[in-house]
Amino acid sequence: MVKAVVGANWGDEGKGKITDMMAEKADIIVRFQGGANAGHTIVNNYGKFALHTLPSGVFYGHTTNVIGNGVALNIPVLFNEIKSIVDRKVPMPKLLVSDRAQIVMPYHILFDQYEEERLGGKSFGSTKSGIAPFYSDKFAKIGFQVSELFDGELLKEKVQRICELKNVLLEHLYHKPGIDPAQLLETLQDYRDMVAPYVCDVSAFLDRALKEGKTVLLEGQLGTLKDPDHGIYPMVTSSSTLAAYGAIGAGLPPYEIREIVTVCKAYSSAVGAGAFVSEIFGEEANELRTRGGDGGEFGATTGRPRRMGWFDCVASRYGCRLQGATDVAFTVLDVLGYLDEIPVCVGYEIDGEVTCDFPVTARLEKAKPVLEKLPGWKCDIRGIRNYADLPENCRRYVEFIEERIGYPITMVSNGPGREDIIYRESPLKNA
Ligand code: GDP
Repeated sequence: MVKAVVGANWGDEGKGKITDMMAEKADIIVRFQGGANAGHTIVNNYGKFALHTLPSGVFYGHTTNVIGNGVALNIPVLFNEIKSIVDRKVPMPKLLVSDRAQIVMPYHILFDQYEEERLGGKSFGSTKSGIAPFYSDKFAKIGFQVSELFDGELLKEKVQRICELKNVLLEHLYHKPGIDPAQLLETLQDYRDMVAPYVCDVSAFLDRALKEGKTVLLEGQLGTLKDPDHGIYPMVTSSSTLAAYGAIGAGLPPYEIREIVTVCKAYSSAVGAGAFVSEIFGEEANELRTRGGDGGEFGATTGRPRRMGWFDCVASRYGCRLQGATDVAFTVLDVLGYLDEIPVCVGYEIDGEVTCDFPVTARLEKAKPVLEKLPGWKCDIRGIRNYADLPENCRRYVEFIEERIGYPITMVSNGPGREDIIYRESPLKNA
C-alpha cells in the first residue's frame, strides 16, 4: 500500500508534520523529488527540527527512510543533517539512497548564485541550493548518478569532460574562477565514501516491500503551484511536486498509490517571486506572519519572511485536483483564532470577469481576488481532539472551504505536534 503526502499550495503547508504523524503506521518513507532548497519543520518528543533532505520518518525506530532517484541529493547536507539529529539524541535512522539518485555538485550551487546575480532584479528568488542547475544538467544528460561514483575510470573521464564545459561558462558568461578537475574528483571520492553504506537499488527494494504488504509513504516537497508543468511557471521549482511523480521519483507502479493526502493550509503563504492573488500586506500581513505556523512564517531553510495571504479556494481547488487528493489535511487552523472576521478568496476577477478556474500565468498576473468574509471564532482551539468540540464558526470555516475546493477534508490540524490532529467524517469522502 502506497500513500502520498503532498502540498496543494505553494509549499510550507505542514507536510512534515503530517508525514511525521502518518509515519507511525508506515514502514518506509520516501523522498521522491526536490532537494535541500525547502525545509520541513517537525515538532515531536525529541524537540523541534528543520529537515531539508532526510525524509520526515526518521524519528521512529521502525521506519526505513529512502532518498529516491528523483531527489537532488546534496551529500554533505544529508550527512550534516543526520549528524544534527543524532547529536540531539534521535537514534541513527535506517537510511537508503537510490543508486539512481543524482548528485548536487558544488558547482551547481555556484551556478545558482551566479545566475541570480546575473539576472539582478529579474531573478527567480532562488534559495541558491543549486536545484535549477542540477535538474538542467540531469535533463541535459550531464549529471552524475550515485552509481557513477563507484566506477573510477568513468568518473575521472567524465569529471574532465564536464569541467571543460562548465569552465567555458564560468569564464565567459560569469567571469568567475574555473573548476579544478583534480579537486572535483577528490570531492566526489569523498562523497562516494560517505554514501557507500546506504546505496541501494530502491525500486527493487520497494517492489519486494510491497509484495510483503509493507506501507510506503511518499513525501512531497513544496506544492502544486510550484510544479514546473502545472504551477505558476516560470516561478516554480525544477522537479514535479505532484503525487503522480512519486511513482517516477521512487520507482513504483503508479497504480500502487492508493491514498493521496493533500495538505492545505488554512491561510496562504508563499516564498519567492510570482503571482499570489490573495496576498496581503502591511500590518495585516505582519500579524498573520508572526502568529502563523509554529513561531512565525519564516523559511525553514533560508529564514526569509514568507509572503502572506488569505485562503485561496481557486488555487487550492486546482491544487487538490492536480494532486488527485483522496483526503485533504487542513492545517494550521489554530492560528486564525485571533480574527473577528476571516476573508477567503472565492474567485478571481480577470478583465472584468469572475472565474473559479485557476488560469495560466499571464492571466494570473492580472487576477484580483474576490473575497468573502466568514465570522471568526475568537478562541484558542489547540488541544481539541473531536471535530464536534470545535466552535461552530470554526466548523463553518472548514465546511465552507471543503465545499469550495470540492475535496474531502478528513483531517484538521490544530497545532504543530503529532497529536494535534482531528479526524473528521467528510460528506465528500467516497461520495
Ligand atoms: P512543510 O514544508 O509543508 O512541511 O511545511 P513547513 O514545515 O515549512 O511549515 C509548516 C509550519 O507550520 C511548521 O513550523 C510546523 O511546525 C507548523 N505547523 C504544522 N501544522 C500546524 C498546525 O496545525 N498548527 C500550527 N500552529 N502550526 C503547524
